[in-house]
Amino acid sequence: MAGAFWCVVEDDRQGQPKKVTAELIGEARRWAGEVGGAVEAVWLTDRAAPEGLGQLAAWGASRVWLWEDAALAPYRGETWVPALAELATRESPRAIWGAVTSRHRELMARLAARLGAGIAADCVAFSLADGQLVATRPVYAGKILSRVRWTTGPWVATLRPNVFKAAEAETGKAPAVERQSLGVVTPATRFVERREEAQTGLPELTEAEIVVSGGRGLKGPENFVLLEELAGVIGAAVGASRAAVDAGWKPHRFQIGQTGRTISPKLYIGCGISGAIQHLAGMRTSKVICAVNKDADAPIFKIADFGLVGDLFEVVPLLTEEFRKLKK
Ligand SMILES: Cc1cc2nc3c(=O)[nH]c(=O)nc-3n(C[C@H](O)[C@H](O)[C@H](O)COP(=O)(O)OP(=O)(O)OC[C@H]3O[C@@H](n4cnc5c(N)ncnc54)[C@H](O)[C@@H]3O)c2cc1C
Repeated sequence: MAGAFWCVVEDDRQGQPKKVTAELIGEARRWAGEVGGAVEAVWLTDRAAPEGLGQLAAWGASRVWLWEDAALAPYRGETWVPALAELATRESPRAIWGAVTSRHRELMARLAARLGAGIAADCVAFSLADGQLVATRPVYAGKILSRVRWTTGPWVATLRPNVFKAAEAETGKAPAVERQSLGVVTPATRFVERREEAQTGLPELTEAEIVVSGGRGLKGPENFVLLEELAGVIGAAVGASRAAVDAGWKPHRFQIGQTGRTISPKLYIGCGISGAIQHLAGMRTSKVICAVNKDADAPIFKIADFGLVGDLFEVVPLLTEEFRKLKK
């Protein structure tokens, strides 16, 4: 029987799988339908809510391989990788997919190294050639799309959030859960303290369907409030350019680009951002790109679907006002 497609669960640390997991499962179902094999979820967590397990089944995971152990939080490669690698060696899945998130990027690279498998990181599409899966991934800061094929299995990959169609949930499916126990691991690092971020009420940057992003044109940290107001009205996440982050206006987790986060929202609105190649590397796969810049020659207008030449301090409050009216 063909090996299964494994989708490693990305969760909210509260016991619920995130939307990107539905995207992994949706894409895995598509290719399992073509080349054969079951679609299964693999979840390493300190807490798996029963509804979370039900959700995985509803999305179409026929089985959930579950490690639920306090030692798995927070994420550490040295605890997660051996567990996953051991199961993969025993079960020989055809593919193991994770999401392009901070911890999955590291996890999947380490797992591929441990298994002696190739990894296609940051995939934005798949196709088939001679019964083998071919992954498409942006390279050179997104200027070129490369197509890569694995020479050995399993097909280890990370998939960019918001690119693939999420699996539709079907009710009435119960999860077949295979509980796994964690072997004895003596981590070289010790967990000291976790500090929760203050909740902004805005969606998470990499998962958001709309992102409003600010750059040096904002002139100072206090002016991000303009973007936060707009974001609040349209349900967007807020991001930043490296210039804004380097200036200390926003923490690094807000940075979009080559050395920051990669996003693919349905709508990206860049305000006071010039559109340097390193910034584009993190957002050029957005479905619709809008830019507000007072310089009509700013490079961002070359890739923007809609451009507004103007002063963001006038334009952004007007946009917020108009969206507010529309929502009413
Ligand atoms: C190795 C490397 C990695 C990098 N990684 C990243 C990365 O991950 N992410 C990233 O973003 N950058 C990255 N950079 C930096 C990148 O090259 C740019 O320097 C940076 O993106 C510029 O940020 P910015 O667009 O905010 O600032 P600027 O380039 O200074 O642009 C500011 C823009 O604001 C406009 N503006 C000014 N005032 C207003 C106003 N009132 N209203 C409207 N518009 C206004 C200006 O016309 C200008 O276009 C990297 C660079 C290197 C070398």
